[in-house]
Amino acid sequence: VQVALEEAQIAARERGLTGAPVGRRNFGIAAHIDSGKTTLSERILFYSGRIRRIHEVRGKDGVGATMDSMELERERGITIASAATYLNWQRGFHLNLIDTPGHVDFTIEVERAMRVLDGAILVLCGVSGVQSQSLTVDRQMRRYRVPRLAFVNKLDRQGANPERVLEQIVNKLHQPAAFLTIPIGVERDLVGVVDVIRQQAVYFEGEYGEQLRIEDTIPSSLKSKADQARRHLIECLANVDERFGDLFLEHDYGVPEDAIHRAIRRATIARSFTPVYCGSALRNVGVQPLLDAVVNYLPSPVEVRSYAMQGDTEQRIQLEPDANASLVSLAFKLEDGRFGQLTYLRVYQGTLRRGDLIYNARTGKRLRVPRLVRLHADQMEDIQEATAGDICAMFGLDCASGDTFTDEAGLGRRLSLESIRVPEPVI
Ligand code: GDP
Repeated sequence: VQVALEEAQIAARERGLTGAPVGRRNFGIAAHIDSGKTTLSERILFYSGRIRRIHEVRGKDGVGATMDSMELERERGITIASAATYLNWQRGFHLNLIDTPGHVDFTIEVERAMRVLDGAILVLCGVSGVQSQSLTVDRQMRRYRVPRLAFVNKLDRQGANPERVLEQIVNKLHQPAAFLTIPIGVERDLVGVVDVIRQQAVYFEGEYGEQLRIEDTIPSSLKSKADQARRHLIECLANVDERFGDLFLEHDYGVPEDAIHRAIRRATIARSFTPVYCGSALRNVGVQPLLDAVVNYLPSPVEVRSYAMQGDTEQRIQLEPDANASLVSLAFKLEDGRFGQLTYLRVYQGTLRRGDLIYNARTGKRLRVPRLVRLHADQMEDIQEATAGDICAMFGLDCASGDTFTDEAGLGRRLSLESIRVPEPVI
């Protein structure tokens, strides 16, 4: 966490930003259908305290479902249906989990969702590995240069094989990748994971795996596997990060932890490396280390350069995630749902305040910012303002998805985020 904050602060300083959103993460989850995206999203909301209970479903090969599947789907759908859900993880970090339509390709919906993400988790089934839609969502992430982590899920299922999935990430997704956690126990006996950097065992206990028990010794049966995983990680990093290569040569494998975190973070943001996590969302194994990784290795808005186009000139303007700059925001999703008509916006620059006058850059229309909210799983919170890097929703707005909103200063420049170019990492 310390490394993540330091890195973001360095980027903020280089960009001359003060009060930049260094603790913000806007991320999505992408997966082949049925890989466990919904289950994982629910677990993430649970661990971050957004929902109090996990729906009792034990999967196709389990027992004891307490709801019939129709009822369950409806309840789960309601819990995580928002286009963006705000949550906290670790001290000082604010995350927005953004819904990505996922497996459909080349649609404007997908493009907009990809565009507002700074990072993503790619969920892969531990049995089926990289599937057709995994390739599709990976292609989308590549097109928008979205850095990502991989989560190899369903390792409690018979026939699960994380090593094979890792090989597929390397061979089919063409990415250097290494394990950051490896499973303890196989199939039905999956009980925890080994943290590869620290070489610690992390067990998940309690009814929902809500308690962590960390042990400095790892099961002896896993010792050589864990050692090998650590060496493989360091070799991968030495190949993609020059600075790390030198360190690695000097110190052999005893590289300091901070240096490893820094190298992983930089390589992940540059999309030259994929950290791979193991576990089972359904069994609540391995989810918390994955959430830690969202904070540790995915970029804050400060570490990504976003652009808007100016008028008809096709001139590219770099946006600064600075709360005091003039407002530039994108309406990326209109939703007519349980809370009424909502427009979701990402603020790229400046501050969106309730009651302020803003302008729709496409139509030139002026409007006063109505009620401004943030969604928390199944609740809604009124907020007074949303600053650069944040995601919020406005009530009942007359606009189209893809519209850009600016303040009066921005109106004359006729900025458009709809034709925004691919963001670039700041490293
Ligand atoms: P989605 O289509 O990607 O959103 O997948 P879901 O989260 O709906 O999961 C699809 C099915 O796989 C459901 O029956 C889940 O209960 C089950 N599932 C999800 N994660 C796991 C897991 O880690 N282990 C097992 N055994 N089943 C899982």
